[in-house]
Amino acid sequence: MLRKPTAVFVDIHVENPTFLVDPTFVDLHFQGVTYTKGFQPTDVDPSGKLTLVFSVLPTQRGIGQSMSATVDPQNTIRESNEANNTYPLPPLPPVLVSVRRVSPLRIDYVVLTKLSRCVTPILSPCYGAIDLRAANESLNQSRSFLEATYPVPTVSGRFVGTIEGSPVRFTGRERDLDAAWSLALKTDPSVERVVLLVPSGYFAFHFRPFVGESFPDKNAVLATVNYWMTPAHEVGHTFGLHKPTLWPGLGEEYETTNPVGLRGNCASGYWVQRSVPIGDGICFMSSVPITASRTFTFQTSCEVSPGSVGKDVDRHSWIDSEDYKALFLRLSAR
Ligand SMILES: [Zn+2]
Repeated sequence: MLRKPTAVFVDIHVENPTFLVDPTFVDLHFQGVTYTKGFQPTDVDPSGKLTLVFSVLPTQRGIGQSMSATVDPQNTIRESNEANNTYPLPPLPPVLVSVRRVSPLRIDYVVLTKLSRCVTPILSPCYGAIDLRAANESLNQSRSFLEATYPVPTVSGRFVGTIEGSPVRFTGRERDLDAAWSLALKTDPSVERVVLLVPSGYFAFHFRPFVGESFPDKNAVLATVNYWMTPAHEVGHTFGLHKPTLWPGLGEEYETTNPVGLRGNCASGYWVQRSVPIGDGICFMSSVPITASRTFTFQTSCEVSPGSVGKDVDRHSWIDSEDYKALFLRLSAR
């Protein structure tokens, strides 16, 4: 993607690794830029293998742009074969990369500070004020997660104001979202989506057992403060991912996984800005357990092999490739 830092994995194989005693450099060439990284002999495993992760910034769009890597470009290491240090070389076909331009995504954040008034607390408990520091952290964390997982170069993620929550149970949610959307539109006419961060207790007050919610005809979504994956999930619905049956749609990812009963699909990738490899992640369109507060790693399962169904292990939240493709088509067409 144009102007989005992208991870490139370079697998290196050292013949006779025990003879390697000096640090070695590797160059990655792309679009006229050389990216250099080094490794130490101790980084190589006993079989001579290691993987280096480069962060590459594509600056020119177009299809079929070649990429190559060279180990020991200055030829400082004496080798048994000096002719196999570049990949790919003829007769191997070139490694070709296509770069597309996608517009940045404008998401504004509104904070619902407290309930405007609470008349009959017997029905369900009224909720208290939001923790503003937690709201600020939630904005930063969820914005950088959106930027990492969505196929866009950047997510603006600005705070545009506060509102008070409607005292009307159940239908008040939609009023709150409309208020947040109007507020954002006033400050930022080009806003595309709005995340309304709400205090914990908000959904219980409205008789909904959720931590986030979105509606078919609204570009503003609800997310409980401290659930950092939830904005990505709810905004995902508004871009057509796993529409809930009520919208009407085919249903949530966690309702339609095969076999049924899993929280969602497996997902893997690399969080470039934070240098976090995600090898055994789970899609953010999965269901979020109530315990997954202030974290991107939580106990859940996405395995499909019969013996592992329901097995809970710590998994990093990410996006599965099918959802990524769907978002890419949707976001690059706007
Ligand atoms: Zn959902």
